[in-house]
Amino acid sequence: MPIWLIPALAAGLALYLLGRWWRQRRRLAGRLSAPLSAPERERLRQGIPQADWLDGAQRERWFAQVQRFRHSKRWLACGGHALDEEQRLLIAGLACLLRLQPEAELQPLFPAVREILVYPDAFLVPPLREPLADDGLELVDDEPDERIGEQGPGQVVLSWADVAAALAGDPVNVVIHEFAHALDEENPAGEGAPPMPPELAAEWAEVMGAEYARLQRHRRPPVLDKYGAQSPGEFFGVVSEAYFQQPAALHRHHPALHALLARYYSLQAPSPT
Ligand SMILES: [Zn+2]
Repeated sequence: MPIWLIPALAAGLALYLLGRWWRQRRRLAGRLSAPLSAPERERLRQGIPQADWLDGAQRERWFAQVQRFRHSKRWLACGGHALDEEQRLLIAGLACLLRLQPEAELQPLFPAVREILVYPDAFLVPPLREPLADDGLELVDDEPDERIGEQGPGQVVLSWADVAAALAGDPVNVVIHEFAHALDEENPAGEGAPPMPPELAAEWAEVMGAEYARLQRHRRPPVLDKYGAQSPGEFFGVVSEAYFQQPAALHRHHPALHALLARYYSLQAPSPT
């Protein structure tokens, strides 16, 4: 091959790749700018009980966020799951309940999550290896761990059966839980403290700190899952689930937490009057 051909081929390849990248960007931009269809809006309103909490402006923001979410994340069906468009819509609908703050549509949407993996049911993960502090031995549990959800670098993993249970009113909401972890990850400076407006920080530290200590002391807590006592990060996941799945009970037993989460999420969950 003549030597002069190499730069010409390199330039041609670069032009081809640039053109392909540009066409992909335009396709994505087209999908993002197209609003949700009327049947999709209706399916969200019917399928997600918390849709009733939203006023008109919040509902419009929600629809826009769901559309962004659906088309900006990579979706992967795992374990033989048949992932369809309706499931994507409902998962996006639940996750975006966490990002309805004013002007949230102008901010990055779950930047810590690039892809969402969906299994048909609970899935197994390899056993954890936990080093023991003193003698350097490892405690090895041979049994794989069963999970209904997981959040890790760039990913959220979900069991569809448990998403469906949450939509039917189960107190466990794996989408809210894992995406609360994803919000938490946006602020590496503090576990259990996602990015928030500065005026909320003092109340957050006071209420979350006191309630976390209370859950750690409590043997049989009435609303909050004891799992939340493991760490401030799990506590944020568990209280977010309670806010969205059992708002009246949370208000009755933990009114300060209910009020704080209403402010943080800019979303007023029902409370008994
Ligand atoms: Zn968790």
